[in-house]
Formats: sequence, C-alpha cells, structure tokens
Amino acid sequence: MGYIEDVYTLVKKRNPGELEFHQAVSEVLESLRPVIQQHPEYQEVSLLERLVEPERVIMFRVPWMDDNGIYQVNRGFRIQFNSALGPYKGGLRFHPTVNLGILKFLAFEQIFKNSLTTLAMGGGKGGSDFDPKGKSDGEVMRFCQSFMTELCKYIGPDTDVPAGDIGVGAREIGYLYGQYKRIRNETTGVLTGKSITWGGSLIRPEATGFGSVYFAVEMLKTTGEKFEGKPCVISGSGNVAQFTVKKLIELGAKPVTVSDSNGFIHDPEGIDEAKLNFIMELKNIRRGRIKEYAEKYGVEYHDRARPWSVPCFAAFPSATQNEIDEGDAKTLVKNGCKLVSEGANMPTTPEGVDVFLDANILYGPGKAANAGGVATSGLEMSQNAMRLSWTGEEVNMRLQHIMASIHAASAKAASDYGYPNNYVMGANIAGFKKVAEAMMDFGLV
Ligand code: NDP
Repeated sequence: MGYIEDVYTLVKKRNPGELEFHQAVSEVLESLRPVIQQHPEYQEVSLLERLVEPERVIMFRVPWMDDNGIYQVNRGFRIQFNSALGPYKGGLRFHPTVNLGILKFLAFEQIFKNSLTTLAMGGGKGGSDFDPKGKSDGEVMRFCQSFMTELCKYIGPDTDVPAGDIGVGAREIGYLYGQYKRIRNETTGVLTGKSITWGGSLIRPEATGFGSVYFAVEMLKTTGEKFEGKPCVISGSGNVAQFTVKKLIELGAKPVTVSDSNGFIHDPEGIDEAKLNFIMELKNIRRGRIKEYAEKYGVEYHDRARPWSVPCFAAFPSATQNEIDEGDAKTLVKNGCKLVSEGANMPTTPEGVDVFLDANILYGPGKAANAGGVATSGLEMSQNAMRLSWTGEEVNMRLQHIMASIHAASAKAASDYGYPNNYVMGANIAGFKKVAEAMMDFGLV
C-alpha cells in the first residue's frame, strides 16, 4: 500500500464510526497524491499522520435549566485541529446531530479553507448537540452561558476565535460573548459574528452567502456566461441561504427555491427583495417554518423533499452536509445545471462530486466557495485588533478580492498539477501547501 492509503487506514482505525470525518479526510488525501509524489520528505517526517490528528479535542458537560425547572445536560465540544497558520478559527454548531465525527470533519475542512483565505488562521470547530429550535430565549441564554463558562478556559483572541454556524446566529453569539466578557473581565475579539454595536464587522452576516455567489461569478467568467434571468436553486433558509438569495437578486438572477429541514418551496416567478424580507423575518425573528412562504405567496411546498429536482442554471446548496447524493447530482446535470457553488460544508457526497466532475460542470467545493464567511471573520479580527471599523464598502471590496484570489489560487493549483478546471483538486492542494510548509518549518510539533 502507498503512503496515502496507509494514512487513511490509520484514520479509520483510530476514529471508528466517524464517517463524515473519514469522508473529508479521504477527499483531501486523494487530492494530495500528486503533491506527495513531488515531496517524499513529507512522508519522512510523518506529515500526513500529524495533519489528520487534531492538536487538541475538548469535550465537556453543559448543564442548564429549562423553563420548567428541569435540569438538562448537553455535550459541548471544541476541536483545535491545526494552528500552523494562526489561532484556531471556525464556527460553533448547535444542532441535535452534532457529534465528535461531524465536528472533526468540519474542523479538518476548516484548516484548508482558512489557508485559502490568505489570512493567518488555523483550523478549529466546535458546538453542541443542543437544539435551539423550539427553545425560549431564556433557555437559549442559560444554555449559552453554561457552554461558555467551560469553553472560556480554552479560547482567546490569540488562541482560538470561534464564530457561528448552524444554530448559532446573532442571538447566540450575543449570549456567548456576554458570558465570556463577564467571566474573563476583558473586551477582546474572542468571537466573530459579533453585533456591530459591540465589535462586529459590517458585511460579516452577509459574507458566506455573498462570497459563495462571488466565487460562482469567478467560475462563470471562465465560460463568459452571466446570471441575468437564470433560475437558481438554493437549499436552506438560514444565514448562508438568505444572503446567497440576496446577492443573486442583485445580480439579476432568479432564485426559485429555499428550504428548511421540513421541506422546500418552489417559486417559479423568483424570490424578490420583498419575499426575501419575509423569509428573513420568518426565520430570524419569528423562527417559523418555510412552509409559511408557500401559504403566503401561493406557491408549491414540497414536504420532506430537497430542491434538486427543480430545473436550474445554478445550484447553491446552503443547508448541511451530504444533502446532494449521486441521484440528486445526476438529476441536476440532466436538467441542465451548469454550476454548483457550495455555501454549506461538504453538502455533496463523494459519488455526487464524481457526477459533477465527470459532467465537467463548474463545481466550487465548499472549502473554496464558502470561505468568504471565515475570511470576513478574519477581517473582523483585524478590525478588533486595530480597534477601528471599516465601512461596509471596504469590507465588501476586500471580500470580493479574497474570493477572486481563492478562485485564482485553486484554478492555478489545479492546472499546475494537471487537473485543469477541477476546483476540488485545486482547493485542496492550494490550501494544503501553505499548511505543510509551515509544519515543516516548525519541526516535530
Ligand atoms: P443556519 O442555522 O442559519 O441555517 C441552516 C439552514 O439549513 C436552515 O434552513 C436549516 O433548517 C437547514 N438545515 C440544517 N440542518 C439540516 C438538515 N439536516 N437537513 C435539512 N436542512 C437542514 O446555518 P448557516 O446558514 O450558518 O449554515 C448553513 C451551512 O453553511 C452549514 O453547512 C454551515 O456549516 C455552512 N457554513 C456557514 C458559514 C457561516 O458563516 N454561517 C460559513 C461557512 C459555511 P432548519 O431551520 O429546519 O433546521
């Protein structure tokens, strides 16, 4: 067996049952084959064995009291995976499906994504199996305070800077930051995604969705096509989906679907600014289900279904991992889909990815296409360190520039290694090279 196979076997043996982690590692290792061939010295210092082992995994009990006075216990995690390029950076996810394997996959992906942003950030991820859905504000606050009471021992503005992810939005970041400040008695940029009145950055809420569309625009430039008037299919209706829809509307495209974990709506006329405002109010304030959109605007609602059967020019998966399987990918391609830009992390199964690559469509994998969120978190950290705030235009300009450079770096690495137009190879290789060089410089750490 070769080096890549040996390392992958080790990962499966050492992390039994962590299927999403195996999947993420397998994809990256496969892409690195040509790099490893060029650099036999990496094997001599067990570089890949070190790369796939988190520097630190923190797991903790999160006790809290619900509104009925009943004691509840959840599990909290922080994976500090790799700090070669800077402080650990990556979101917190609160969702009942959260477990060690899912967070390790997300933290592993984050290493390469953060490297691609060109900013100095290592890779991390964390969260809890707590489900904010259906909880009162008081319950969410008590949970967040308990979670941060433990997490604050391990994070800091130069050590580890968490942000939001699924189930962790502006409300949760507020409660988490308030508790950190209270315990540590310091006002620092320890979290990103903060509100603008207490240290946040303009454009951070928009950044992942906007960035995913900016990446798509860069991919489209290679074929000379445009978004105007073209139907686009989006999954999810949370932070990433909302701002993907917003940017697509601005570009004159026609977003025709959004979804939540119960089903999707199909609006053939297109979601416009007023309808998007309804979605934002529904999801961010009333915390209701997407079905209400169909009732309000008299469009189709598909219960327990995903939107990939709707014919489109471009697809923007923006909900969760493995939401496009092989059959979905085939349906998208058969119906004429020319571009996929992943707002979510690892939304396409390996078999689905192969379908997109074989069909030679423009396929932007999450670690490149959704890097705008963490990149703008990096910009928030810079503003906090300088104790000043840039204008929205300034941040947006920097975001656009970063997405263009991620696209360029991925495209260049792909063609340098003989895989032109393959952004999976390109993003993995370009992201890996900087991390590998830093780890080589540090010696045995
Ligand atoms: P939100 O919690 O704001 O929204 C998540 C959306 O996805 C909701 O509509 C949710 O529906 C839906 N969803 C979640 N889990 C499932 C599931 N198992 N099946 C179907 N639908 C589901 O999260 P974000 O928008 O922040 O994150 C979306 C994706 O983008 C995630 O993969 C995240 O890791 C990724 N991402 C986010 C970044 C950010 O800056 N926020 C940065 C980079 C990547 P429901 O409300 O019913 O649960």
